[in-house]
Amino acid sequence: MSQTHPTIAAIATAPGRGGVGVIRLSGKDLLPLAQSLSGGKTPVPRQALYTDFVDEHGQAIDNGLLLYFAAPASFTGEDVIELQGHGGPVVMQMLLQRCLQLGARLAEPGEFTKRAFLNNKLDLAQAESVADLIDASSQSAARMALRSLKGAFSQHIHSLVDELITLRMLVEATLDFPEEDIDFLQAADAEGKLAHIRRQLVQVLAGAEQGALLREGMNVVLVGAPNVGKSSLLNALAGDEVAIVTDIAGTTRDTVREMITLDGVPVHIIDTAGLRDTDDVVERIGIERSHKAVQEADVALILVDPREGLNRKTQAILDTLPESLPKIEIHNKIDLHGGEAGYVSRETMASGSLSVHSTATELIALSAKTGAGLDLLKQALLKQVGWQGESEGLFLARRRHLNALQAAQTELDNATLCAPQQIELLAEHLRLAQLALSEITGEFSADDLLGVIFSRFCIGK
Ligand code: GDP
Ligand code: ZN
Repeated sequence: MSQTHPTIAAIATAPGRGGVGVIRLSGKDLLPLAQSLSGGKTPVPRQALYTDFVDEHGQAIDNGLLLYFAAPASFTGEDVIELQGHGGPVVMQMLLQRCLQLGARLAEPGEFTKRAFLNNKLDLAQAESVADLIDASSQSAARMALRSLKGAFSQHIHSLVDELITLRMLVEATLDFPEEDIDFLQAADAEGKLAHIRRQLVQVLAGAEQGALLREGMNVVLVGAPNVGKSSLLNALAGDEVAIVTDIAGTTRDTVREMITLDGVPVHIIDTAGLRDTDDVVERIGIERSHKAVQEADVALILVDPREGLNRKTQAILDTLPESLPKIEIHNKIDLHGGEAGYVSRETMASGSLSVHSTATELIALSAKTGAGLDLLKQALLKQVGWQGESEGLFLARRRHLNALQAAQTELDNATLCAPQQIELLAEHLRLAQLALSEITGEFSADDLLGVIFSRFCIGK
C-alpha cells in the first residue's frame, strides 16, 4: 500500500533552538534525494554520513549527519532519511524547504507512525503508545507507554484472540456437523476454555483500568477560603515529584488548574477560588472548562481552619458541588493549634461532630507546613480512584481500549448464558468478542478511527 505514497518530510525535533535539530523523511527510493542533499555522496544504510547539506547550486545550507535506513528495515517500513543539523529555527526551515524542493511534501501529524502501522511495523495499540510516550506526564506513564510500544499490551490481546479463535473453531465445527453438537463441545471442554478466556480478560481489563488512571489521572476540586493553605498544601503534596505541565494551547492564562503527580498518577486540581465571574473572554473559557471539570471530578478537598470554620463564600461553593461527589474535609494548620495529625473515617464522622462541613465523608487533620498527615491525604486520594501502584501487569490504556475490552467482556458474559442447544447464538457472541478485541490492535479498524487517532499526533511523528 505504501509504495504509492509520496515522500514526506517534517522537522522531528521540538520547535525552538537546540544543539541538534532533526528532519525526518520517509518515502520510496530516497537514495537519489540523499545524494542531491549531500552533494553526490551515497550513504550506506544505518551508517552515519558526515556531510554538508547543499542547495541546488551546491552551496552548503548546513552540515551534520545523514542517516539512511533502507526499506523495509526502518521505522515506517519505507526508505527513511534523518538529517541531523544544527537546531536553529531558520536552519531547520531552510533544510526543510530544500527537502520539499527535492520532491517531498510536508508530513501531516502522525503520518510517519501511520505509515509504520499501515506497513505492519506497529499495530494500532503500539502506534498509540508512541504518542503516549511523547505526551507522558510522569516517569511511570513513560515506562508504561514504552512497554506498550514494545508490544506487551498487544501480546495480551493477541493471546486472548488466539484462544478465542480456537474456541470459535470448535463451536463452528458443531454448527457444520449438527450430529456432533453438544457432546462434542463437552468433550472438547468448550466451557472450560471459555472460562479461561474470561479470567484472562478480567486481568487485562484490570491492568488497563489502572493504566488508564495513569494516563488520564484524577480530577480533584479544591475548596477553601483565602489563606487557609491551599497553595501550601499543593506544594507540599507535589513534593519532589515535579509535575511536567504540557504546553496545551489556550491554557496559558488558566490559573484555575494545576497539576501534580502522586505516585506517578497525574492529579488535576481545580482551585475553586479562581472560579469567579469575569468579563475576560479567555479567562471565562478557562473557567467554564473548570466548571465542567468540577462536574466530572473524582473527589473534592474541602480545606478549613477548624478554628474559623466555613465562611459564607466557601459554603456557597460547596453547595454547587454534586451531591454524589466524594468529599474529604481537611483541617489544616494543626501545628498552630496543637492538634494531632490523623484520619477520621466516614463511619466515625457519621456518629461524631468533628466535621465542620457535614457532607464530607472523611476527615484528615494535617499541617501543610510541617508535612504531618500528608501521607494520609495522599493515600486517601489514591484510594479514592483505586490506584494500586505501578506493576508489570499494567497497560497505559486509552478510553477506546477500555471500551473494547468491556464490549468483549459483555459478549463473553452473554456467551456463558447461552443454553446448550443455542450453539448459533454462542458462536455469534464469540465472534463479536473477537471483533471487539481486534479493534484494539487495529485489525478491523475503520479509516475514520485511524484518522482520529493519528491526527492527534504531533508533526514529525
Ligand atoms: P491559600 O490562600 O489558601 O492558598 O493559602 P496559602 O497556602 O497561601 O497559605 C496562607 C498562609 O498560611 C501562608 O502564610 C502559609 O505559610 C500559611 N500556612 C499554610 N499552611 C500552614 C500550616 O499547615 N501551618 C502553618 N503554621 N501555616 C500554614
Ligand atoms: Zn494560594
